[in-house]
Amino acid sequence: MAALHDALTPVFDEVIRRNPGEAEFHQAVREVLESLGPVLGKRPEYADAEIIRRLCEPERQIIFRVPWVDDAGRVQLNRGFRVEFNSALGPYKGGIRFHPSVYLGIVKFLGFEQIFKNALTGMPIGGGKGGSDFDPKGRSDAEVMRFCQSFMTELYRHIGEHTDVPAGDIGVGGREIGYLFGQYKRITNRYESGVLTGKGITWGGSQVRTESTGYGTVFFVKEALAARGMDLEGRRVVVSGSGNVAIYATEKAQALGAKVVATSDSSGYVVDEAGIDLDLLKEIKNGHRGRVSDYAARRDSAHFVAGGSIWDVPCDIALPCATQNELDADAAAALVRNGCLIVAEGANMPTTPEATRVLREGGVVFAPGKAVNAGGVATSALEMQQNASRDSWSFEHTEQRLSEIMSSIHARCLETADEYGAPGDYVAGANIAGFTHVADAMLALGV
Ligand code: GLU
Repeated sequence: MAALHDALTPVFDEVIRRNPGEAEFHQAVREVLESLGPVLGKRPEYADAEIIRRLCEPERQIIFRVPWVDDAGRVQLNRGFRVEFNSALGPYKGGIRFHPSVYLGIVKFLGFEQIFKNALTGMPIGGGKGGSDFDPKGRSDAEVMRFCQSFMTELYRHIGEHTDVPAGDIGVGGREIGYLFGQYKRITNRYESGVLTGKGITWGGSQVRTESTGYGTVFFVKEALAARGMDLEGRRVVVSGSGNVAIYATEKAQALGAKVVATSDSSGYVVDEAGIDLDLLKEIKNGHRGRVSDYAARRDSAHFVAGGSIWDVPCDIALPCATQNELDADAAAALVRNGCLIVAEGANMPTTPEATRVLREGGVVFAPGKAVNAGGVATSALEMQQNASRDSWSFEHTEQRLSEIMSSIHARCLETADEYGAPGDYVAGANIAGFTHVADAMLALGV
């Protein structure tokens, strides 16, 4: 672990004391605090206003019961969460995750990351996150609908287009946003499009929102390569995960001339030296929610490896797009050994702190999720803009806006890193640029 500035040690100790047992939240806070040492000397007013301590404490945390009835007529019970972390820059904004691993510590880590990510986009959105320990795997469409309706029956009173605007995350895609929006509309009797993002195109959604996190990830990589006189043409890429982020990162990488040679899900990974056949992967994953092993079974050039680490597959560009802490120190060592140029996080905090250290010491460019994957939430903000003006933009225009936003995030990270004495360091750049943007707003708004 990198050292914390002396003045920040008590702040971090307080976070641990107030939030016992929330390892992922501690990790996310520590990662940001480690970058903030150089800010303290330059901006003493932050310490006077206790900005960092205040930032680490969510403005509001909501935990609620979600009862629902399964197809067999049995009553099921889950827990729902919404952490409204910081609203200095705008309404709380961030996704909802449905996954059995969800508990308060996961939602808080994601909400905390979201504050800085959203600030980096330069758009007027605060940070929040929600979720449930509900496991959609193996559940029928009707069960997912009843669960979403029950979840929204509590959540609706806490959200609104000027208050808190949820979207999707792992386990929550277009289908779930539809059921959630339907229930919100029914309870409130308001067609309040701006209350959720990730909606369908025909009922208030934005073009490119589905693709935006993956596309934005590749746009960021393109900028990072360009800054070093390189491009994507002919590069070998490994993309972990086969959800929304991974699929559209693969699509854009291929469109820009790269060759994506491996993909994965929780059961293992697939190597396809002929390059991933995206139509087949989409059919398997989106069409019938299948596994990557089905992909290997249907393609001669591919083989499936059960378990194991996808990061053993040699590549120039590694895009972890699955989930938190999926890339550990051993995986990082394998990437360094195999000559990887850049690791860019499409998921939220997929690289462990030890792995980040191994990569950086090994000379691999490391780009953190709060900058790299910000295209998703940025396009959500574009969706809110379209909803507020009752307008809908073309795919081309929206993608152009996304691409400009990603290049400005990239530039801002590098400029800030330079300004604070860490040239080329995307972690320092993203953390400091995101932090100072929120901190200045908090100062202006008073205690
Ligand atoms: N869940 C996405 C993220 O991690 C998107 C959030 C949103 O669009 O509000 O940034």
